[in-house]
Amino acid sequence: MRIIDQIYIGGGFDRPHGSEEAPLFNPATEQQIGVVRLGDEEDVERAVAAAKRAFPAFSRTSKAERIDMLHRLNAAVSRRADELADAMREEYGAPQGFVKFAAPRAGSVFLDMAKTLETYEFRRRIGRAEVEMRPAGVAAAITPWNSNYGFICSKLATAVAAGATIVIKPSEMSAIQTQILTECLHDANLPAGVFNIVNGYGGVVGAALTSHRDIAKITFTGSTATGRAILQAASGAMKRVTLELGGKSPNIILDDADLDAAIPQALAAGFINSGQACIAGTRILAPADRLDEIQARLAKAIGAFKAGDPHDPEVRIGPMVSRKQWDRVQSYIRLGQEEGAKLLAGGEGRPEGVDRGWFVRPTLFSDVCNDMRIAREEIFGPVLCIIPYRDEKHAIEIANDTDYGLQAYVFSSDHKRARRVAEELEAGRVAINGAAHEPLAPFGGFKQSGIGREFGVFGLEAFLEPRTLLV
Ligand code: NAD
Repeated sequence: MRIIDQIYIGGGFDRPHGSEEAPLFNPATEQQIGVVRLGDEEDVERAVAAAKRAFPAFSRTSKAERIDMLHRLNAAVSRRADELADAMREEYGAPQGFVKFAAPRAGSVFLDMAKTLETYEFRRRIGRAEVEMRPAGVAAAITPWNSNYGFICSKLATAVAAGATIVIKPSEMSAIQTQILTECLHDANLPAGVFNIVNGYGGVVGAALTSHRDIAKITFTGSTATGRAILQAASGAMKRVTLELGGKSPNIILDDADLDAAIPQALAAGFINSGQACIAGTRILAPADRLDEIQARLAKAIGAFKAGDPHDPEVRIGPMVSRKQWDRVQSYIRLGQEEGAKLLAGGEGRPEGVDRGWFVRPTLFSDVCNDMRIAREEIFGPVLCIIPYRDEKHAIEIANDTDYGLQAYVFSSDHKRARRVAEELEAGRVAINGAAHEPLAPFGGFKQSGIGREFGVFGLEAFLEPRTLLV
């Protein structure tokens, strides 16, 4: 049983003033594995004050000093990548495939930001003016549970690169991962107050941060509903916001796609991170004249997506993070049937042979119309919809007929055609034929998938304010 009773303020670990406690679970066994003592509004005050004190000196550090700090952060986090991976498996139930991506990336995001910083010009001349990019001020980061330390690291990396100090509120459900990560970050020996970490509930610590008058910038990753509340709270003091929110990404299989390659990749995109991913390609758009063949292939290929113990290297789908999330996903599987969609694979309940843990059967719905709730709302579990389309134009129409716009996937044997379709899609990122992630390219959503972009130069500038000097 892990007892997490510390937060991190002003360069050191400290007991929170808040006294409320929250249980921590292993979602694969449903057993309680820890307890976290949560911070409160007074802890937010102390953390923001520490970040504010550190800001003047930190904002004046040189690029070279900050690049050096980013390298130290990378080294400190990378040293304990195995422990972070274990904690992610235990506390979150992430399957091997996702852990293998997430654990090294927690460290590498600092190097990506160092690389961005190397060539970034903070001063430039525009006509008669000298323009200087200044750190926006003290920042607050609020992160979700579905990739806990990855989000903390990428947001911290950007703040450090910009010369901004930060207060971070991670998900209260990921406190074991946060504790290990905080110990790593502490080892990087940054000036006191540059980063501060306060565990707590969204409605308490999160809300206190988003309305705090000394916070200039908020970077948030989480649901669209919470993003909306944060945007409202931030508007009072005109805080700058970056919001990375939900998605309902289209996965377009064009009629000339090589199905041997496209089918497993489309499923992998839909089931990424056990379906608990903002970028999951959850709407599979299939050409009506190849629908039977594609459905048959999807139903067969889903057999390779085993759900179960995240320690098993063959398992590709771990448990849902909590009982609440499991119930929510089950309710959508029921809803899909009530709405008239057909179960092509999966369904309600746990996978066969699994008698405990918040596991969901990998589920495929056919006969889905894009106006059904299962096609419009983010389910955040391994539940995919197959939606038929008549022609390319119709596919684009369905793909864009959504409140979201985070990511899209296109599969085709004709690269030019895939690009042509990609260019019509209202999404922050479009991946053609399963193309890999590019860590320096902007990431973020159109429409209700968010505001602003993270990573690389776009991410850095979201923490900066231009100041024009006319001489
Ligand atoms: P959530 O919105 O419930 O919580 C996210 C964070 O916000 C948590 O730390 C929570 O405590 C905090 N919070 C809750 N209410 C708050 C409030 N009123 N004020 C301030 N903070 C508050 O999201 P979740 O369930 O933890 O994560 C899943 C969601 O995150 C999904 O919708 C998913 O699509 C989204 N997500 C988006 C991205 C992206 O990059 N676009 C990445 C991962 C997850």
